[in-house]
Amino acid sequence: MPTANPVKSQHRRSLKETDPSIYEIIQREERRQEHNLELIASENIASTAVREALACVMTDKFAEGYPGKRYYGGCEHVDEAEQLAIDRVNQLFGSKFANVQPHSGAQANMAVYHAFMKPGDTLMGLALSDGGHLTHGSPVAFSGQMYNIVSYGLKADETIDYDDLRKKAQESKPKIIVSGASAYSREFDFKFFTKTAEEVGAIHMCDMAHYAGLIAGGVYPNPVGTAHITTSTTHKSLRGPRGGIILYDNEEYDKPLRMSVFPGLQGGPLMHVIAAKAVAFGLCLQPDWKQYAQQVKKNAQALAAALTQEGFRIVSGGTDSHLMLVDVRPFGINGKVAQAALERANITTNKNTIPNDPEKPFVTSGVRLGTPAVTTRGMKEPEMQEIAAQIATVLRAPDDDSVTSAVKEDVTALCSRFSIHDVS
Ligand SMILES: *Cc1c(COP(=O)(O)O)cnc(C)c1O
Repeated sequence: MPTANPVKSQHRRSLKETDPSIYEIIQREERRQEHNLELIASENIASTAVREALACVMTDKFAEGYPGKRYYGGCEHVDEAEQLAIDRVNQLFGSKFANVQPHSGAQANMAVYHAFMKPGDTLMGLALSDGGHLTHGSPVAFSGQMYNIVSYGLKADETIDYDDLRKKAQESKPKIIVSGASAYSREFDFKFFTKTAEEVGAIHMCDMAHYAGLIAGGVYPNPVGTAHITTSTTHKSLRGPRGGIILYDNEEYDKPLRMSVFPGLQGGPLMHVIAAKAVAFGLCLQPDWKQYAQQVKKNAQALAAALTQEGFRIVSGGTDSHLMLVDVRPFGINGKVAQAALERANITTNKNTIPNDPEKPFVTSGVRLGTPAVTTRGMKEPEMQEIAAQIATVLRAPDDDSVTSAVKEDVTALCSRFSIHDVS
């Protein structure tokens, strides 16, 4: 009688059988997503097809190098997947070259800096306190530690201070000027950035991480073709797997950028993630993506208007995108209190500093809200009205458990009307 191969029989058991602990934890996360309103502006709900690709056998494959030029054998299929991801993302944004290997948005930015700057060179980005990202020069991140940082910021009306930006660029002669942000709701004037960068001999790098899904849907200005280099994450409004990309048109950038990603910063690319990126880009190329992107923006504008009606102040006076910063001080509370109270009512947000915030970054005076995930669930303007009312009800009485519990019931009911399992 042939004996069963114990390794093999173990190897093909389901997650539930093999590791019930992790299986149960994942189930609990799925239930959390189902029963909570996800208003974190950087989050979304990936499709079944994206998650299926993420779980595929390509996780096994080493493919150091690029399609057609690998350091390992057996790369014919992963080559096809990576080439498809490259072709699709170029079609989506209109770029000539794409690197789809960065493991994350932070690594995409690091790769651009590493390709064109030496330690001590000057990097300009939007200040973290005004909506910029850690990778744009924060002193707690590699960007702020490795490079000389000159930050630009916002004017009194909480929009970008372009005059100050230009003046600082002329004085400090940066190597790279970064546009893009994590908590800025308005449009960027990408042409101004390119013009200013060219005046001082700098590269304009746009980090469109937050806006990429809207740009793909044509409802936010496309930096590609204007910025010299554009980076992005793939998991925010773009709704793909967690990852990064770099897009550019100039052939002269090709070699330094490739070399910077691999072998400069990374080893083997995550081929299963790259396959999932290809799936996500394919979905963004479908005609219904435009409708999604339009609805994300309409929902954000409806939510901002309804919150203003409720008595909140929206930073920059409103939004041109998927996100908004809500100043919660009119309700006599801070961002930390607001986030915690909303969480007790199953509304997931993040506290966020607002321009000239008197509070510490761990306390803050604001919360950041975004509509990509709730729009993926199918919610529209009427639900944004409902959500604004729920937020206001909770934050008017953040310590009142009976209020929070009542809102939590409403939120759960709203979530079950828009199940994550019905997402098309
Ligand atoms: C989220 C974000 C990043 C970083 O992406 P990770 O995938 O978390 O590394 C970079 N830049 C901006 C503007 C972002 O919002």
